Amino acid sequence: MHTKLIQIDSANIDRNAIKEAADLIAAGELVAFPTETVYGLGADALSPEASKKIYAAKGRPSDNPLIVHISKFEDLVAIAREVPPQAKKLADAFWPGPLTMIVWKNEKVPCETTGGMDTVAVRMPNHPVALRLIEESGCLIAAPSANTSGKPSPTEASHVALDMDGRIPMILDGGAVGIGIESTIIDLSEKTPMILRPGYITKEMLEEALGGEVCIDPGIIAADSMKKPKAPGMKYKHYAPKADLVLVEGKTDRVVAEINRLAAKKQEAGLRVGVIATDETRDRYQADLVFSIGAREDEDAIARHLYKLLREFDDQNVDAIYSESFATPRIGQAIMNRLLKAAGHQVIQI
Ligand code: AMP
Ligand code: MG
Repeated sequence: MHTKLIQIDSANIDRNAIKEAADLIAAGELVAFPTETVYGLGADALSPEASKKIYAAKGRPSDNPLIVHISKFEDLVAIAREVPPQAKKLADAFWPGPLTMIVWKNEKVPCETTGGMDTVAVRMPNHPVALRLIEESGCLIAAPSANTSGKPSPTEASHVALDMDGRIPMILDGGAVGIGIESTIIDLSEKTPMILRPGYITKEMLEEALGGEVCIDPGIIAADSMKKPKAPGMKYKHYAPKADLVLVEGKTDRVVAEINRLAAKKQEAGLRVGVIATDETRDRYQADLVFSIGAREDEDAIARHLYKLLREFDDQNVDAIYSESFATPRIGQAIMNRLLKAAGHQVIQI
């Protein structure tokens, strides 16, 4: 299959391009498109055949449900068995935006889209291209991240092309995304709202909007937790670079010294070593490749650059990667959740 790559300017959306993409979605085909979090791989959410194509293109396990993207609150009402009162509050506060809500589904939503679950994940993306595509297609769009299963989520159209070229008919290239990590997922299907995946919208922000308590799925916190995460996708080894990734945590000077020591050892053994540093520390490392993820105080930049860096190390064929740790105040939990998974929870405390 030939994959058409179309550049699209978010500030001045080309009608013909959107129409062509929307027609593909309406015809049950796949289109990759930008959102504010990461690139999505979209298909008609209410068509079982279209949803199945997403799993096939990504190599995604069929029990891992998709997020349904909508462009207006009524779309949620249309596919939910009931709309919990919290959903309206959260939509008013955060939609369009990087928040996915889990609600009980009605019979319109096929099991293929929800990985066999009776609940459905729904989000209204804050990206003009995504919203226009949903509206023009007349569909609700099921879209997981547009990467091959197990690879870092794509934050640029070129990443999508590397994974999906020849597998899907179209990629809309809207430039680099703004946030760079996937949406926060909150489960509203039970009494107490529960965060199933941390993201840009934090527990504190959710509690403020709801005026009540929000808990965090114990299954996503500790690596050694005996509890299974409630979002099926969180149990898979995700976001993995090809090289072995290890995090080093501690005071900056000691972290730099330890990473340099470990890197030298690997290099002696003939291996290529990469380091994920910050603007402040990049010049202090000796390795084959040293990338800065951004300034240590700039959490937004750290989130935005994480997946791109992991992909760059893959391109450059490094064998081992050492990274500093980024437990920053606001979205640090979301960043560390992704980084720890990429590292298979290999952490050295120093
Ligand atoms: P992705 O779109 O690639 O970010 O993946 C979607 C994430 O949402 C995965 O971790 C899924 O397991 C999770 N998810 C989607 N639908 C549900 C649901 N009904 N219940 C729990 N988790 C869900
Ligand atoms: Mg994904």
